[in-house]
Amino acid sequence: MINNPGDSGPPAPASVTPAGRFAPSPSGELHVGNLRTAVLAYLFARTTGRRFLLRMENLDRTAVGADARQIADLRSLGVDWEPPVVYQTDRLGRYREIIDGLRAAGRTFECFCTRREILEAPSAPHTPPGAYPGTCRHLTPIERDRKRASGRPPAIRIIADVREFTVTDVLHGNYTGAVDDFVIQRGDGAPAYNLAVVVDDAEQAIDQVCRGDDLLSSAPRQAYLATLLGHAPPTYAHVPMVLNRDGVRLSKRDGAVTLADLAARGVDAATVLDHIAASAGLAEAGEHIDIATLAERFDPAVLPREPWILTADEWD
Ligand code: GLU
Repeated sequence: MINNPGDSGPPAPASVTPAGRFAPSPSGELHVGNLRTAVLAYLFARTTGRRFLLRMENLDRTAVGADARQIADLRSLGVDWEPPVVYQTDRLGRYREIIDGLRAAGRTFECFCTRREILEAPSAPHTPPGAYPGTCRHLTPIERDRKRASGRPPAIRIIADVREFTVTDVLHGNYTGAVDDFVIQRGDGAPAYNLAVVVDDAEQAIDQVCRGDDLLSSAPRQAYLATLLGHAPPTYAHVPMVLNRDGVRLSKRDGAVTLADLAARGVDAATVLDHIAASAGLAEAGEHIDIATLAERFDPAVLPREPWILTADEWD
């Protein structure tokens, strides 16, 4: 643990009721897979005495009006949350403080590598595949000045003093994954997702993170950073994704996968919730159910561990 970065902002008071959350990126419409994750995150939080929060992760590409449509879609399924909805772009100053604190504490280095250089670098012994090979961590001051003079704005990476970290996941048990010197500030100066998500979860008193299992391998890095900033890592619940018949993550190309598309086909939000409930082992096929009843029935033990393969005939 280091002394500074965690101290300069509003730490979540110990007396605050802990929370779960849904944290979509408002880059487009939520599809059935995102909606299923949101329902499960809501159920995980509300059935364990937690508050439920909604955070818009809008540091990357966003689509105009997508946040409002996502909010309306969640509401139409009966998912609700404690206001306000937090927007990451409102917290840039806070991320800056944390990054500056880590830099001042000597926990970071400037990285001038291009994506290609990273891919092509010979990996150091014991470096897991895909991990940052360490190129810029060991630059001499002269080499660093030369790189700076080249004009390429550096990303900021954390100096990781572990190679792996173990997180606790309700569905995956103890999961150990790689930690490398990952980026906390991008070359364009924006805070990286891995930094923002950790700062926000900690400062919003979020101690339970339910999200798609495509992010399972990011959890060890994030949990490690949380401990570095003096926070206890959350408990995770990485839930299976929804895939198409080819086993590929659901997308717009798969036809009617958003509430708006499905409504146009005569499938209303209540019916979508019924199907989500059935897919999660919480309702019979064809049964009508609302979110309050789902909360009474919720049982992580019956959640399928495999992806939900969604095809167009689901809605026939
Ligand atoms: N914003 C991320 C996404 O939509 C999710 C991040 C998270 O839940 O930690 O994929």
